[in-house]
Amino acid sequence: MSASSRARAMIAQDRALAARSAEAARLAAIGPARIIAIANQKGGVGKTTTAINLATALAAAGYRVLLIDLDPQGNASTGLGLPRNARGRGVFAVLAEGLPIADAIRPTLIPGLTILPADPDLTAGEMELVSATGREKRLKDALDAWPGLAGCAFVIIDCPPSLGLLTLNGLMAAQDVLVPLQCEFFALEGITQITQTIEAVRRRLNPGLSLHGIVLTMYDRRNNLSELVAQDVRGFFGKKVYETVIPRNIRISEAPSHGKPVLVYDLKSPGSQAYIRLAAELVDRLGAAPSRAA
Ligand code: ADP
Ligand code: MG
Repeated sequence: MSASSRARAMIAQDRALAARSAEAARLAAIGPARIIAIANQKGGVGKTTTAINLATALAAAGYRVLLIDLDPQGNASTGLGLPRNARGRGVFAVLAEGLPIADAIRPTLIPGLTILPADPDLTAGEMELVSATGREKRLKDALDAWPGLAGCAFVIIDCPPSLGLLTLNGLMAAQDVLVPLQCEFFALEGITQITQTIEAVRRRLNPGLSLHGIVLTMYDRRNNLSELVAQDVRGFFGKKVYETVIPRNIRISEAPSHGKPVLVYDLKSPGSQAYIRLAAELVDRLGAAPSRAA
């Protein structure tokens, strides 16, 4: 058995997620892919980690998933085994030059998970885009024109740590936003900016957009502050906050340097188990939501 099929078999053994495999077919049958942007203008809050591991957990449950690395830093690409020197043209060629998505997509070591990587040279991306016509809709247009979208259950977009044109492209293409929030001081203040941005985009540009949920990351149960922040955020945002909390876990921070999701690096780690639960919770919530008109 290859390493990747072993990884898949191991992950699929997890009962919480395996139970959702039947859901996969049902959800896929609802219609077009759910496009979920992972966004927060703050850096280092767990966006990329969440994008990689949520996408991996969903793929392991039998969903076809495309991960889009919209961050010029390319951490999602590297973390999924595509270091800079292994990448060809990527998402910025799609955005700035109209390269078809099909020509830039790459497989990953996870069956069912493909990636639209960041370009190796990406600083040009946002600058070139500024003068392009329809510049905030480039990603949406590219996805709409991609024949593979119909075969995908989920598109997960890893946004950069800013609210510039790239993140705007992510929010224009998405139906749902997932906001990772680090359990630290001023967490609530930081989140106002992204929720106001989502609201502004919804009102003016993409009426189908909504805040799907907030996930608390880097939770440290030995630290009272984590619990206080969690209570605060739940008090304010109520059910918008996922029940699943992602613990601070060393295995999560080690995995990217091996070019692997933590689910493959150490499936039994608390971090992996938390991301599997988050994927299951996300699918549950989507299943309960009324299906949206396109
Ligand atoms: P962002 O994409 O929001 O900038 P990252 O996902 O890259 O954030 O995370 C920032 C850093 O924190 C990375 O080094 C990552 O490995 C580490 N990290 C993220 N989540 C956790 C966690 N739950 N436990 C420990 N380290 C984490
Ligand atoms: Mg990131």
